[in-house]
Amino acid sequence: MDKKSLKIETNILTEEKILHWEKILEKLKESMGLQIYTSWLKNIKLLKEYNHFVVLGVQTRFFRDWITSRYADKILDEIKKHKLSINRIEFKIQEDKSENKAIYSNNTESNVSDIKDSILNYNRLNQNLNFDNFVLGESNKLAYMSAKKICTHPSRYNPLFIYGGVGLGKTHLINSIGLELSQKNNVMFISAERFMYQFIKSIKKNEMVKFKDFFRKANVFIIDDIQFIRGKEGLQEEFFHTFNSLFDKSSQIIISSDRAPNKLDRVQERIKSRLSGGLVVDIGTPDYELKYKILKMKIKEFESTFKEYPNLNETVIDFIAKDQNSNIRELIGVFNRIVAFSKMGKKQLSVDDCKIILKDVYKNSKVITIEKIQNVTSNFYSLNLQEMLSQRRSRPLARPRQIAMFLAKKLTTRSLPEIGRKFANRDHTTVIHAVKTIDKLCINNEEIRKNVEDIKSIILSD
Ligand code: ADP
Ligand code: MG
Repeated sequence: MDKKSLKIETNILTEEKILHWEKILEKLKESMGLQIYTSWLKNIKLLKEYNHFVVLGVQTRFFRDWITSRYADKILDEIKKHKLSINRIEFKIQEDKSENKAIYSNNTESNVSDIKDSILNYNRLNQNLNFDNFVLGESNKLAYMSAKKICTHPSRYNPLFIYGGVGLGKTHLINSIGLELSQKNNVMFISAERFMYQFIKSIKKNEMVKFKDFFRKANVFIIDDIQFIRGKEGLQEEFFHTFNSLFDKSSQIIISSDRAPNKLDRVQERIKSRLSGGLVVDIGTPDYELKYKILKMKIKEFESTFKEYPNLNETVIDFIAKDQNSNIRELIGVFNRIVAFSKMGKKQLSVDDCKIILKDVYKNSKVITIEKIQNVTSNFYSLNLQEMLSQRRSRPLARPRQIAMFLAKKLTTRSLPEIGRKFANRDHTTVIHAVKTIDKLCINNEEIRKNVEDIKSIILSD
């Protein structure tokens, strides 16, 4: 790519002002109502405008999270009407304490008390966890179908109780329900831990009445990680009453847990029986197909977010999906790690590269020693190890020696001086030279490149 075309590429990021922000705010006021507008939107500033995204300024982290979870889609839609190429909003927090205060007290829902603010703060749905990007597989099909059913027939199955191990998609699924139902309902989404935190705070501040009112006015109540209430008597008591009053007025209740209701030890029997009184479904560990599909989706997501292909071939995707990681959070972690590395190098990653990248992710991975690298390399070239390490400079000895140094740098965490010492007390500058030389040769010399790959495979495979 020459300089000119590079320029054109980066042009995607140049500012080009088309948007008339005041007009957009005016439209949002019309479509979303004065109350939402004055409470949340009025003070948003347009800070920067690029071809594909805009940067909006908000007063606090709290505002950002609240706006992101509730209104970001609508704001984006409105912006798109004026400039179609925009596909993303970024928020920048512009701290200004005095202004914040004014805005809080300006809230049209009047005297928003401390407790309400802080509850709102934790009562947020994540726009990124929705039904559209929830990938279906054998292990989560039933839970997914139940979740969908709740959305079409609220309060028919009450409560919906979803359980399963960590990282399997419980939060994602119940958040999706929340998003879908929030169009027409007053949805509360809170983790059991936050529920307790609010509960204790309210007791301390003598605001239990407010606490009760606040939670009980929800018509969809979603509580994540209910196992947290185990062994906490006071909290169970309060939860039981909240549950009952919501249930009595037919509010839909959705609960997630790391275990089945009857396995919740140190939880009152009456609560357990309440929890299992509706629809109980589990999410199991993902199989190969599901993991594969999730990886494919993550690649698509990556492409559309970064406008860049993460350069993973089928063998690599297959390798990640076959990997022993049994939960989806880990799978995504592994994927991100590999993509991060693939972006740094220019060539396509091989499975061996991935093994190296994931070296410390593998619990039972064997330690690769410099001795091992030296042995494998000298064997590969049918050399005597002492010869390979000797001070002789003839190429048939020097190249394998350099390759071994190169691999020692790439495959171990040893420092350059340490590596030098292991190569018959050579200086670290010799190691640097070797690494540079082999790096270059791997690009220009097909035979060397192949040899290096083969040696690497042997080292990694046994
Ligand atoms: P849990 O609450 O069960 O511990 P999460 O819902 O937090 O798990 O899921 C962990 C990660 O895996 C999240 O990033 C989530 O988006 C993702 N994830 C889980 N299941 C799926 C799925 N079926 N499709 C897409 N992403 C998923
Ligand atoms: Mg969770």
